[in-house]
Amino acid sequence: MPATLTRSHPAPLLPSVTFSVSDLSNGERAVALYASDMPLRFMMQPGTETTVAAWILQGAARLGLAELHRSAAYAYGYRLLWLANWTTPEQDQAHKQRFPDARRWDRAERLASTFTVWGKHSMMQAAKERGLRPLVEGACRCGGTGWIDTCFDPDDPTTAVSMNCPGHNPGGCMPRPVVIA
Ligand SMILES: [Zn+2]
Repeated sequence: MPATLTRSHPAPLLPSVTFSVSDLSNGERAVALYASDMPLRFMMQPGTETTVAAWILQGAARLGLAELHRSAAYAYGYRLLWLANWTTPEQDQAHKQRFPDARRWDRAERLASTFTVWGKHSMMQAAKERGLRPLVEGACRCGGTGWIDTCFDPDDPTTAVSMNCPGHNPGGCMPRPVVIA
């Protein structure tokens, strides 16, 4: 008899909600999983999509959509700043307060990505667009201007540049002064 490859995980009771998993971005799915009863060691396998979807709805119902959207946007903004190695202590602290269990957050992000990539549940266009809009929590190096002054070579002032803040200005567009005719 072959070894049993899957463990059964009890799916949570589906909460009564007015939205579906398709209404949530990948980041929002991760935040919802973090807030759900998802066991830390759960591994997604074929046939477990419904269970994961139920956890996503469970976590989303616990947080409420407004908080879910906000938390996911903050997490995305923090990820962008972290990748650029530009987080501030205030941003690090805000992220830790929002997701105090780093291992659980890592698991939730990985599971959400696997769930989304498997593609059994579509994603509405509004959720896709919302998932690309970061928010920043905590004092930012750019001071909210969207631009960070840096210098590639401290000994060469000609290498000083303004770079776009990935959290406040992910598109990197140089703002133009408003001209009133
Ligand atoms: Zn910024």
